[in-house]
Amino acid sequence: MMIRIPFNKQYYTGQEIGYIREALLEEGRGDSYFTNLCAAFFEKEYQIPQVFMTTSGTHALEMAVLLLGLEPGQEVIMPSFTFPSTANSVLLRGVVPVFAEIAETTLNLDPEDIKRKITHRTRAIMPVHYGGTACAMDEIISIARAHGLYLVEDAAQGINAKYRDRYLGTWGDLGCISFHSTKNIACGEGGALFINSKEPQILKRAEIIWNKGTNRTQFLRGEIERYSWVGTGSNYTPGELGMAVLWAQLKQADLITAKRKGIYEYYREGLASYKGKGLIGLPVIPEGVQSNYHIFYMIFSSERIRKRVQDELNKRGIQAVIHFVPLHSSAMGKKLGYVPEDLPVTERVGKSLLRLPLYNSMTDQEKEYVLENVQDVLERID
Ligand SMILES: *Cc1c(COP(=O)(O)O)cnc(C)c1O
Repeated sequence: MMIRIPFNKQYYTGQEIGYIREALLEEGRGDSYFTNLCAAFFEKEYQIPQVFMTTSGTHALEMAVLLLGLEPGQEVIMPSFTFPSTANSVLLRGVVPVFAEIAETTLNLDPEDIKRKITHRTRAIMPVHYGGTACAMDEIISIARAHGLYLVEDAAQGINAKYRDRYLGTWGDLGCISFHSTKNIACGEGGALFINSKEPQILKRAEIIWNKGTNRTQFLRGEIERYSWVGTGSNYTPGELGMAVLWAQLKQADLITAKRKGIYEYYREGLASYKGKGLIGLPVIPEGVQSNYHIFYMIFSSERIRKRVQDELNKRGIQAVIHFVPLHSSAMGKKLGYVPEDLPVTERVGKSLLRLPLYNSMTDQEKEYVLENVQDVLERID
């Protein structure tokens, strides 16, 4: 019997509709009630000096770059194996994204290549925690310190994951989170900017940039009588209905991570022997890293085999999908002067990686169907 298994399903905890009703109908729910609850949750639980909920992960990244005041011609080192938003956030300010290579084990930035890419124009490093599994932060932090560079974590996929017992997004000067419907914890569109920096310049400007260049946030706190235009900024404040949904999900963060871990471990155990035979590569979670199990992938020895496995799984109703087209070899990357050969590991991974369905509400029957079929297809590879 064929079962249709989508790659992803947005999770529903059961509390969302109640909070949406509350946001719409209850007295005293102003335009930032759930937004403030979510921000306060992170400030307290994650011990972050200042948190801004945003319209998206993309906007958290854009706000981060605005806050650092980076200038045209300066450079930011980031992986090519990421979503375009990482690079767009700097390009929009005329800043140059410099793509560095990833390590084959974790698909995260290779610290050695970061060092090779540093020039006198470099101002920041933007590590991306791929699949919610932390980058080699000890090494990356020491490189940033040694060269006086800002650290902005693209932790868009990293909610509720940790490195050495501290949450992702709280290691850099700034950390950016996404709650897009494809992420572990989701509200359709949404994000957060974690401000860990203690630079007064950054803290002071953040709420102005966030709220359309005005001091409206101060006004809402009752500190001033009226608000007005005080600086440059944009509208990064999220809608209350999305934040009401997020509030329901945040309270179940650990449960969600545990559910995903179960599916991830089930796949990993069921496919270990194929890794042993050298047929596939599987995700690696290094010592001291607690993943949020955002992605389960297999890497094949060639694009041809990846395509064959993908086609076969798709025919059996399983929506197995590739991931990032490396930024350096995309149409835009070529315009920036890159050629595919510049980053051979990234290029190979981009072509030969295949992700399996993994969502919080996956049933035993669904995960068994996926694993049995993957095993069957792998048996037939010649
Ligand atoms: C999802 C994602 C983003 C963008 O987040 P949105 O909330 O969709 O804007 C940025 N970077 C990475 C690595 C992502 O996975």
